[in-house]
Amino acid sequence: MNGIVFDIRRYSVHDGPGIRSTVFLKGCPLRCFWCHNPESQATGITKIRKTETLDGKSTIADENVGYSISDQAVVNTILRDRLCYEESNGGVTFSGGEPLLQPDFLLSMLRMCHEEGIHTAVDTSGFASREIFTRVAEATNMLLLDIKTTHGNKHLEATGQNNKVIVENLKSLNNPNLQLIIRIPLIPGINDTREELSASLQLLQSIRQPVERVDILPFHRLGQHKYEALGLLPSPKLPNHHATPNTREAISLFNQAGFWVKEGG
Ligand code: SF4
Repeated sequence: MNGIVFDIRRYSVHDGPGIRSTVFLKGCPLRCFWCHNPESQATGITKIRKTETLDGKSTIADENVGYSISDQAVVNTILRDRLCYEESNGGVTFSGGEPLLQPDFLLSMLRMCHEEGIHTAVDTSGFASREIFTRVAEATNMLLLDIKTTHGNKHLEATGQNNKVIVENLKSLNNPNLQLIIRIPLIPGINDTREELSASLQLLQSIRQPVERVDILPFHRLGQHKYEALGLLPSPKLPNHHATPNTREAISLFNQAGFWVKEGG
């Protein structure tokens, strides 16, 4: 079976435990205004405009984003680093875009990895039908699930979609074999107030699935140059600064509530 992938990154240390390969699947149903990989959002193979300068001369060329590849070919690439995974308790992480947007392709790769004894993680926004979400959660060792805001309208404003499906999917989890890591990207003006963070904390305290760890991801503006190359304008909502003032406060809030918290992914 073939799917559309836009990158396979080896030796990653930010997408789950140990040393990992991260497979980025193309396409995402959300449009987060801070997205660092806007080229990953559209489904299928798309184009990005690249400017290259050599000896003072600039040339502009369109480059494909994404390529069609078989599940077996992806897994063969992953297996090249089997020794690294074994020595570091690592594995493979399927990210995106939104990997749940290509469920059959994803599920097939998860099955193949498990047949090879490779630990799997899926990095998802949680925005998928209950059926797909449940099938993936049952097929992977670990879920890295983003919580952006618990506030429905704010979520709609920030990502283009309401968060009802995401919250309901999170609440549906109750699997003792699943490692759940919650990722909270701190977005100034969206979720970096004490009130917003407390609401996210309350949500996590109300679910049945144990949370292994909470990752607080400080805000940064990486990837903004890509918007121009895609013919898009960076969002006017994006604050013009790097610092996320409440990172420490966020960490201590979740820490005090008994969660294991890590800054960064
Ligand atoms: S969910 Fe991730 S990939 Fe999709 S738009 Fe948001 S930040 Fe980008």
